[in-house]
Amino acid sequence: MTEENEMTNINELGEFGLIDHLTKGIELVNPSTKKGVGDDAAVIDNEGFQTLVSTDLLVEGIHFDMMYTPLKHLGYKAAVVNFSDIFAMNGIPKQIVVGIALSSRFTLEAVEEIYEGIRTACTNYGVDLVGGDTTTSKSGLFISVTVIGQAKADQVCYRCGASENDLLCVSGDLGGAYMGLLLLEREKAVFKANPEMQPDLDGYDYALGRQLKPEARQDIVRELAEAGILPTSMIDISDGLASEVFHLRKHSGLGCRIYEEKLPIHAETLRVCEEFKMVPAIAALNGGEDYELLFTIKQDDFSKIGQLEKVTVIGHMTSDANEATLVSVDNQAITLKAQGWDALKS
Ligand code: ADP
Ligand code: MG
Repeated sequence: MTEENEMTNINELGEFGLIDHLTKGIELVNPSTKKGVGDDAAVIDNEGFQTLVSTDLLVEGIHFDMMYTPLKHLGYKAAVVNFSDIFAMNGIPKQIVVGIALSSRFTLEAVEEIYEGIRTACTNYGVDLVGGDTTTSKSGLFISVTVIGQAKADQVCYRCGASENDLLCVSGDLGGAYMGLLLLEREKAVFKANPEMQPDLDGYDYALGRQLKPEARQDIVRELAEAGILPTSMIDISDGLASEVFHLRKHSGLGCRIYEEKLPIHAETLRVCEEFKMVPAIAALNGGEDYELLFTIKQDDFSKIGQLEKVTVIGHMTSDANEATLVSVDNQAITLKAQGWDALKS
């Protein structure tokens, strides 16, 4: 960002000027988008497909901290977390609408950065920005993104489709985003105590990237389709593995067994865990914001899933609806809690 005195007050543009400014030059890339920004409503034609809709509201101070969240990243993340919800249904995101509420401390340049992030995410994922709403807020920044996606009716993956003995799989690796957050919080505390101190975040690129600039697993949805695997149930990991497993179990009426030694955790995440004296499995289970996909597949698809490098089988579903077992590295059965894991106490 440039210096304060070069900034443009958003009031100078007015609402329509701001909307024009933020949405000019948008090129629509999806044939299903019949009308984008500029009318009373966008028009989408999902003929032959089912329409998937999801929304997320981000509130300053609750979901992000302006002190360490670059605005461009914030815009990018606000869009990407919505795409992730569509991928979690085994669908493809096609359009978004963006609602934004700004307080007077926001300059045009600040809003432009948020939109640069949103538009970059749209470009990267082939999604059209087709509308939104712009208003003022008395305090803080609010960003609401609604995504519209599509999927063939027989390809949609719900949380409720798992069966006994289905294999529980996860994409990528877990816990990194949470350790990135802890690093940012640590540096913020240091800075607050002594504003002369420069943040020391060298050597933490992976964890910080996982927190500040997450990606949604479009690639996994594509690879599963190419491999001819239709997950029996699926969810994205926004709140930590333990919580998402709970949702799959609850909706499918099943239990599960997960093996700690199978949990995929990146080498840098392990290193940061060591620094923070945290058990890596806890970061993976309770951390959140990894935006990986958690899904179940039929046993018959075991050899096919083995071909997918970015997917790890971490356990399986069981018939006992009350079971939520983590088998620890030393072969103890620990009961998982949806929010939090009490192994720390024992
Ligand atoms: P209305 O008065 O019908 O709500 P607006 O003046 O708010 O219309 O919006 C005009 C057009 O600009 C609409 O197509 C709307 O979807 C779009 N729009 C408004 N705000 C945003 C925004 N923050 N991002 C993207 N499009 C927006
Ligand atoms: Mg409006």
